[in-house]
Amino acid sequence: MSERAYIGLGSNLAEPAAQLRHALEALQRLPGSHLAGASSFYVSDSLLPGQPRYTNAVAALDTELAPLALLDALQAIEQDQGRERLERWGPRTLDLDILLFGDHLIDVPRLQVPHYHMHARAFVLYPLAELAPDLHLPDGRILSQLLAECPFTGLERMPVPSGPDSL
Ligand code: ATP
Ligand code: MG
Ligand code: MG
Repeated sequence: MSERAYIGLGSNLAEPAAQLRHALEALQRLPGSHLAGASSFYVSDSLLPGQPRYTNAVAALDTELAPLALLDALQAIEQDQGRERLERWGPRTLDLDILLFGDHLIDVPRLQVPHYHMHARAFVLYPLAELAPDLHLPDGRILSQLLAECPFTGLERMPVPSGPDSL
C-alpha cells in the first residue's frame, strides 16, 4: 500500500539549491515511490550563529517503502551527497527529514514522526503549506493553525520554480 510522505530538504553547503535539485532527482528514482510534488525553495538565516544561510524545501513522496526503509534510503542519499555529521545541527550538504508518513505516529529510537520540531520551523511549515494547505496532522494539529503561530519573518521564497517539471 502506498503512503503519502512529506520530506523536508535542507542544505547550507556546496551550492545548496543544486543540492536540493539533485536530492529531488534522487527521490524520483527511489524504488516503489513517486515524487508527487515539490515546493519552492526558501532561503533563511541559520538558527545557529556563524553558519551559511540555508536553502529548504518540502517534497511529497508517494511510497510503498516502510518508514524505516524510507529513512535508510534518505540517509543513503544524504551520504551520496557528502553529508558529514561532525556536530549536532552542524552545516550540511544535505538533510532529508521525514516530516509526516501518512497518518502514522512513529516513536522508535531511529525515527519519530511527525518530526519533533516541524511545528516551530517556518522553513518547514510554509513550503509544506504550498503542497497541502489543508493538512491535518495525525496527532490532531492543523497546519493552518501552526502557520498562524509561526511568522514568515526571515524566510525568502526563491522566485525560480523548483518542482519536478523544472528538473
Ligand atoms: P533535526 O532532527 O533537529 O532536524 P538533523 O536533521 O540535523 O536535526 P540528523 O543528524 O539529520 O539531525 O539526524 C539525526 C538522527 O535523527 C538520525 O540518525 C535519525 O535516526 C533520527 N531521526 C529521528 N526522527 C527522524 C525523522 N523524522 N526524519 C529523519 N531522521 C530522524
Ligand atoms: Mg533536520
Ligand atoms: Mg536530519
